[in-house]
Formats: sequence, C-alpha cells, structure tokens
Amino acid sequence: MKIDIVSVFPEYFDVLGLSLMGKAQAKGLLQITAHNLRDWTHDVHHSVDDTPVGGGAGMVMKPEVWAECLDDLLGLQPATVDETECTLDADDSATIADSADATVSDEVVESSDAIASDESDGMSADITAENATEAHDAPVPGTAASDAPVLIFPNPSAPLFTQRDATELSHANHLLFGCGRYEGYDSRIPDYYRTQGIDVREYSIGDYVLNGGEVAVSVMLEAITRLMPGFMGNPDSIVEESYTGEGALLEHRQYTKPATWRGLAVPDVLLSGDHGKVDRFRRDEALARTNEIRPDLIAKLDCKALDKADRKT
Ligand code: SAM
Repeated sequence: MKIDIVSVFPEYFDVLGLSLMGKAQAKGLLQITAHNLRDWTHDVHHSVDDTPVGGGAGMVMKPEVWAECLDDLLGLQPATVDETECTLDADDSATIADSADATVSDEVVESSDAIASDESDGMSADITAENATEAHDAPVPGTAASDAPVLIFPNPSAPLFTQRDATELSHANHLLFGCGRYEGYDSRIPDYYRTQGIDVREYSIGDYVLNGGEVAVSVMLEAITRLMPGFMGNPDSIVEESYTGEGALLEHRQYTKPATWRGLAVPDVLLSGDHGKVDRFRRDEALARTNEIRPDLIAKLDCKALDKADRKT
C-alpha cells in the first residue's frame, strides 16, 4: 500500500519507522512518504493559511497550496479554469475586509499576503480573482490513477472513523492523508476533489479537538494498516478483537500468568482447559461488558449474530 501524508509538520511521522509499522515498510508492504505542504508554496513566507472569510478567530488553510500539492500527488493533469465568474458584490467585499482583523492563531508563524488591503475601504464593487484575467491550474476531471487513490482529511466535525472504515481502507492501494492545522482547511478542498471523481473521506477520530491532523492520521493509519494481510506476525490476533466482525462487541477481559497476582486471581474457568467453557465465558463477558459500557453497540447487533445462550446473557 502506498501512503502519502501531507502536513506542515512532516517530522511528526518519523515515528512510523518504529515497531510493526517500521517492519511493514522494511518488508515492502507499506511505502510511506510524509510531505511538507510548504514545499508547494511560492511566496517567501511559505504561507499556507489565510484569514477566515466571514470573520472570526484564527486562520484557515488556503485551497490554492493544497490544490497544487494534491494535484501533484494524485497525478492529476493541470487544466485551465476560467475564473471570470468569481465576482463579489460590495457587501461581500466589506465582509472580506472585516475578516482581515481576525485574531491570528498561536501557531501562525506568518500571515499570508492576505486579502487585498485596497479593498478594506469597502468601496470595491467587483473583486475578481487575480483581477479576473488570470486562470489557475486545475486537473482534468476523471484523470485519477486507475488504482483509485483515497483522499482522507481528518476533521473533528466529520463522521466518526470506525473499525469498519479501517477494514474497508485496508484493501486500498493508495491512501493520501491531508493534515489540517489552525482552524482547519478550506471546505472547498474536499468538495473540489469529489467533483474530480476522487474518493474523498473526512473522518473524526473522536469527540474532542486536537491541534492538528497529524495525530488523527497516525491513529487512522495504525488502525488501517494492522488489518492488511501480512502486517501482523500472527494474523489470528486481529480476528477476535473489539469492534470486529458482524456482531461487533467489546472484547472480553484479558489475563496472563501468574494465576494469582497480588491477591487477585484469574477466573477459574480460564484455567479449566475446557475450551467450550472458556469460549462461552469470554463471549458472555464480552456481551455483558458491551451492554454496560457501549449499549449503542448492543442496539446495533444483528440478531443473526446472536446464539441462544447469547440471548440469555
Ligand atoms: N475549528 C475546528 C473545529 O472546531 O471543528 C478545529 C480545527 S483543529 C484545531 C485543526 C485540525 O486538527 C483539523 O482541521 C483536523 O485536521 C485536526 N483535528 C482536530 N481534532 C480532530 C479530531 N477529533 N478528529 C480528526 N481530526 C482532528
């Protein structure tokens, strides 16, 4: 599997050379490249952010830099798009001018060349992108590589990333992750690549907000790659896990030796050598724990995934 990650902090991904992920790369199962988004900038400050249109705190990652980067990594051919229709009325321009006062986020090391200062008097009636004369490069629709790359943006306001998504994505040949920073990325970036026929996903890894997408990408990447055939030394270790399979439950509790440790004993049945009883005990425990901790998973269970004894539990 080919994995490209775009970030303003590509060093975050140095750790992917460790442990099982490192071994998978050494075996040639994974080819991971972390790219610096700033390599696709053209200005002296290597700016990747700008003030939010509509006002508000912080900065937003701007689409032009991302587009140059993603077009390159997705192997999309440049094409000319006429932007002469990109005109704003007087109200729009006043709003944009207001947004220039936005508070700059802690991380902002440089502000972008910003929205044209000569519009700040709110007088300009017809603002056009690059004075409506320049065209920008955009890819030709439908020119994505045939092995269908999947473009993934971590986003706290997106649907939750689940084991089901990880399983599906473990079959992909090429994943491309884009790490957001600041207040996030311009929403038109994923929208645009969807219009180009790219499979674009946005996922949250949980109901909390991180500083950037790097940790979220690491989480997703680990969940996805460990499901690839050949990744785990013992493939059985991913068969019966929490959230896995048709009747996805939380896993039963785990114990190792000694049988008693600091006065705490493992359940007798696990020492009985009776595999039928051990399986039943573990299954009952998985059902009971799931019911207690994640009743939402029980509610989603397909009745067909339950046996008679399950129903009693
Ligand atoms: N303004 C955004 C909001 O309130 O939803 C938060 C932006 S966050 C500070 C910057 C970036 O971190 C996001 O664009 C995203 O890439 C990443 N991020 C933060 N929390 C995340 C989460 N729970 N799941 C996935 N990505 C997250």
